[in-house]
Amino acid sequence: MQEIRHILLVEDEKAIREAVAAYLERENYKVTTAVDGQEALDEFDKRHFDLIVLDRMLPRVSGDEVCLTVRGRSDVPIIMLTARGEVEDRIIGLELGADDYLIKPFSPRELVARVRALLRRSKMESDPQREIQTFGDLEIDLSGHKVFVAGKEVDLTASEFKLLTMLSHYPGRVYTRIELVEKVLGYDFEGYERTIDSHIKNLRAKLGDDPRNPTWLYTVHGIGYRFEDPKDK
Ligand code: CA
Repeated sequence: MQEIRHILLVEDEKAIREAVAAYLERENYKVTTAVDGQEALDEFDKRHFDLIVLDRMLPRVSGDEVCLTVRGRSDVPIIMLTARGEVEDRIIGLELGADDYLIKPFSPRELVARVRALLRRSKMESDPQREIQTFGDLEIDLSGHKVFVAGKEVDLTASEFKLLTMLSHYPGRVYTRIELVEKVLGYDFEGYERTIDSHIKNLRAKLGDDPRNPTWLYTVHGIGYRFEDPKDK
């Protein structure tokens, strides 16, 4: 029997809250709703949740504060809902410890895909035995440092392998260029951001991933990149 995952949905706008809750319930998730930040923290104290969908603009306690408080106590995956606005706003959400964000208006279908990807990721992290990951035709052998596309081995440089495994470890999660430079290349000069672009370009060529119609590697304009698992689309 499939385990029921419990989601805390925090949204003060009734129409959005009800639509999203209905959609998640249809996908067999158990949903608890909260209408403001304080109620969200109260619910979080009362029971275990597998994931939190958190609006940023909330009455009483803001979504940012809720995110910080929850992060101080738990690694539960958090998806932030943010109004269409400045790029900086979205990056702040990620810096507060959110795992992903969606810009309003979003389709409930996209939200469900992100929820599924994050829940799968958190399950994978609790299963350290797993060393081979598959994403459609793409297979990554983490212990053997090998990558296959449609069964054929692809020869990647150490940096390309690191970049790919980092992005694919958190499907749907957006990485800024600076973050990728720091984590993949190990230095933090802004001038090196373009190096990531050229690594991505080489990776795409080697994997046969068309940037105009990507299977795995997506450009997030003005921010960076994200990896998608074709199963979530
Ligand atoms: Ca709101």
